[in-house]
Amino acid sequence: MFIHVDIDSFFASAERSVDPSLKGIPIAVGSRSNLEIFSKKRSNIRLMNENSGAFVTPVFYSDKKRTFESYFVDETEGRKKIRGIITTASYEARSFGVKTAMPIAQALQLCPKMTVIPSNYPLYHKLSHQIHSFMMAHIPLVEQYSIDEFFGDVSGWIAEDEVYDFAKSLQEKILEKFDIPVSIGIAKAKWIAKLATESAKPYGIFEVKDIDAYIEMLPIKAFPGIGKGFQERLGKYYIATLGDVKRHKTLLYSWKKPGIQLYHRVTGTDNEVIESRGERKSIGISRTFDAIDDANEVKRRMMIMARHIVYMVIEIGANPTTYYLKINYEYGVKAKKSETVNRIFSEKLFKNILSNMYEEISHAGKGAVKLSLNVSNFTSQHTKTLSLLDHDEDLLHHTLSLEIQKMRERFGLDIIKTADEL
Ligand SMILES: [Mg+2]
Repeated sequence: MFIHVDIDSFFASAERSVDPSLKGIPIAVGSRSNLEIFSKKRSNIRLMNENSGAFVTPVFYSDKKRTFESYFVDETEGRKKIRGIITTASYEARSFGVKTAMPIAQALQLCPKMTVIPSNYPLYHKLSHQIHSFMMAHIPLVEQYSIDEFFGDVSGWIAEDEVYDFAKSLQEKILEKFDIPVSIGIAKAKWIAKLATESAKPYGIFEVKDIDAYIEMLPIKAFPGIGKGFQERLGKYYIATLGDVKRHKTLLYSWKKPGIQLYHRVTGTDNEVIESRGERKSIGISRTFDAIDDANEVKRRMMIMARHIVYMVIEIGANPTTYYLKINYEYGVKAKKSETVNRIFSEKLFKNILSNMYEEISHAGKGAVKLSLNVSNFTSQHTKTLSLLDHDEDLLHHTLSLEIQKMRERFGLDIIKTADEL
């Protein structure tokens, strides 16, 4: 049997766990686009990387304290404007129509009494990590699926007819220990358990005993992983419910792998198992912003993002050999390039490669709206495949990068910048 544990309105619940006065009233957590790293002022940027198991992107945060006024309110020429969007709303706020991704200003019109709290990702990561550890101490096989979702396999460990009681006691323990409410779905198949959690919310437990009967009337969009594209594709064949999916086996099989996978997941015949995700295989970050025409500013931002990747790479002691850069421009224009270089990693090497790739692929005169950087293909620094030709010089720069890392660990990531970031 599989269980799927999902924290109820996680970020809002996390805030309540540290400030109980927020309980029982409409609250929401809000965020602004995370462009803080590009600021020219120094703000002691730090890395939150406790969840290093590759399922969530690491967060960079400033240790400045945020208040509603300082974080959400912009003042231009004496006029105040509330910026940012709702990240998570409590159930009390949802009953007023407040939803995830809604502008905060609009949400406050719907629910003027709502308390909006600036997001505090280090807190959420810490809690997520602690709950993950707690689950691993109570269930033999656990997979962290996202920052607030976990799969567990209790087959052969808890008798089938006792899984419900087990889930109930797990739910109570998590509430008691962390003051965090969770909902739990139970089923014989992994993705059906995840689906069941939606029926359990908030603070409930839902066990699916008869998969066919359960899926029959559920709309296709309820199923995890059926996005807009797939919904349209299914819609063309008048497939509206998960029961319809089950009745169209031949059609779904004709769609090859994605179709076959969906058919089996929906019918609970996928035989998928828990994946305890291991080591990180790549490190990347991306940032979206209002269009920038000035190539120097785009490059400056690219170099800042590169510094953040360097910090993560050195922290985990990896030696990436494949480097990837993607630039999205306005009107859907994209440029991308990747390069594999078997050399010892250093900040200098990485930034040189990036800057060459940038010169090669960038479009002059077009407004850039997004940058994505990624490094992968990790090898050991001692392998013989690394270039001997550049070895001495590379080693020197690598050693320098290690020294700089120590400074950044102590004083924040933005204590040392290179000239191309200024
Ligand atoms: Mg959740």
